[in-house]
Amino acid sequence: MSLVVQKFGGTSLGDMERIARAAGHVMTALGSGHRVVVVVSAMAGETDRLVALAKAAGGDPESAEHDAIVASGEQVSAGLLALMLRDTGVPARSFHGWQVPLITDSSHSRARVLRIGPDALGACMEAGGVPVVTGFQGVTDDGRITTLGRGGSDLSAVTLAARLDAERCDIFTDVDGVFTCDPRIVAKAHKLDMITYEEMLELASQGAKVLHARSVAVAMNHRVRLQVLSSFTGAPGTMVVDEDEVVEQQVVSAIAYSKDDAKITMIGLPDRPGVAAALFGPLSDAGINVDMIVQNISPDGESTDLTFTVAESDLGQALAVLAESNRDLGASDIVPDSSVAKVSVVGVGMRSHAGVAGRMFATLADRGINIQLISTSEIKISVLIAEDYLELALRSLHSAYGLDATD
Ligand code: ADP
Ligand code: ASP
Ligand code: MG
Repeated sequence: MSLVVQKFGGTSLGDMERIARAAGHVMTALGSGHRVVVVVSAMAGETDRLVALAKAAGGDPESAEHDAIVASGEQVSAGLLALMLRDTGVPARSFHGWQVPLITDSSHSRARVLRIGPDALGACMEAGGVPVVTGFQGVTDDGRITTLGRGGSDLSAVTLAARLDAERCDIFTDVDGVFTCDPRIVAKAHKLDMITYEEMLELASQGAKVLHARSVAVAMNHRVRLQVLSSFTGAPGTMVVDEDEVVEQQVVSAIAYSKDDAKITMIGLPDRPGVAAALFGPLSDAGINVDMIVQNISPDGESTDLTFTVAESDLGQALAVLAESNRDLGASDIVPDSSVAKVSVVGVGMRSHAGVAGRMFATLADRGINIQLISTSEIKISVLIAEDYLELALRSLHSAYGLDATD
């Protein structure tokens, strides 16, 4: 019998009526002869509430107690969905991360999955049961609860699907699938029937939160057939597939954005070998990722300005590290700016088509939007702009690349 993993996100479990609807999707899959493993997120808003509680109690996000608190939301929704299924005669039972077990390293609040023991879930299904697994959480080898990073229940679902060799992993969410841009911002965005793993990975990495980036990477590496669909309608959603399965490939498939970046400019840095290493080495040692970087030409051959971005949540720590490094470096000023946004256009068609960047720059120029930083990969172009212009930029680019819905 084939196995399907069904994952339900927070909004899809937001109240009892929605949990009942999720139970309906499980029963439909069972009715078509599949075995089903269910993965749940916490009810909408619950993880935010728990994070705030942990913070108010002084919990360091990297501590085990922080994760013990924050992981608990999934336990409630797993129990509720299992109860609803049992109510309709389906012998479901909840599984917490440690009961699976889903073993992770001990990087609390951003743990990495090391391995999964499939036996407990297998035994449950052998006995005709339906396991309802708490997403987002795991356990270390020495028995401490961990969490996988925000949005991480997608990763739990895909990792289980890969381990259990599932026929498909269905991610039920609050939109109809993956759109050409976030439909909450660009009303003319349309649902894609298919998107390649590579494009989806870029979009998720650049901020499209419809899927967790690492979940896409795991799906790509293990060839998990992944579908994103609406838990409200259950209509076919977006399939994440290999490039050769996509029938009509656009040059630009979709646009992502992120408001979670902050820009830092080091003014008047000495222009000599070793400065970049002295600047970025300590940031990396502090676990701070640097994303876009631009170094300006040095007008006098002696000093230069260097601008780069970090996650906004790392800004305070980054500034502290930089202040320390600058004792030796001697930049005249360090200027932070968190009112920036990153816009990324993504498409595998960029590999074979010229002019994609040109159109992006011209479209933004037409709207009077200044580009602060640019970075590219083979299938993506990202620009950093002032956050105030984000919506205008997204809508203009969406039209410029011919992505607007036609009806
Ligand atoms: P869940 O709670 O189901 O995991 P998320 O909030 O994590 O749901 O992800 C779904 C949300 O992702 C949508 O409500 C939508 O606003 C946002 N989103 C961002 N970019 C896209 C996109 N390209 N396509 C679809 N949704 C997107
Ligand atoms: N509940 C967790 C969060 O809000 C995990 C998830 O939703 O995937 O981040
Ligand atoms: Mg999510």
